[in-house]
Amino acid sequence: MKLVLLGPPGAGKGTQSQRIVESRGIVQLSTGDMLRAAIAEGTPAGIQAKKIMDRGDLVSDDMISGIVKDRIGHDDCSKGFILDGFPRTVTQAESLDKMLSEKGLKLTAVVEITVDESALLERIEKRARETGGARSDDNAETLKQRLAVYRERTAPVSDYYRKTGIISSVDGMQEIDEVTASINAILDA
Ligand code: AMP
Repeated sequence: MKLVLLGPPGAGKGTQSQRIVESRGIVQLSTGDMLRAAIAEGTPAGIQAKKIMDRGDLVSDDMISGIVKDRIGHDDCSKGFILDGFPRTVTQAESLDKMLSEKGLKLTAVVEITVDESALLERIEKRARETGGARSDDNAETLKQRLAVYRERTAPVSDYYRKTGIISSVDGMQEIDEVTASINAILDA
């Protein structure tokens, strides 16, 4: 099973990915987590990415697509994977199609979690409290920019997948368990 989870910051992509990982035995590929790992290691790519992430902007398509291409070639992805936070631009979506087709693979599903924008700030502030401020981009100011970037660059990714009919939407304003149940219903259909 090869999935893409789409949705704005605070939609619950990470939480739902973890649940799918547990129930389906596939791996979660969070590009945000990969970048945060690079920052923690202090690699040149990490140092460059941190500035961009702290502003709420996107790192370059080439860099992130390179990271994903390398990652999906690892053995643990052979049973399937869930992409959390990638693709975030139409160019990335096109790269993903290309890297999968080169391996003779296709996406199983794209699930978009929709949430009222008015709920996102509260969710991000809650996450900041719960994680003790571990993410330097979880604050009101950066969220504003992350949402602007989402509207401008990531919302078109949903349209890209709508053209092929592979995308399904789930109401992310439901309780967490209900969101999980809705996603499972799509995956089992
Ligand atoms: P996330 O953990 O998915 O919210 O990602 C945190 C930050 O990492 C984003 O705001 C971007 O700056 C960067 N990032 C994560 N995934 C991508 C991606 N696919 N393309 C570009 N930047 C990304």
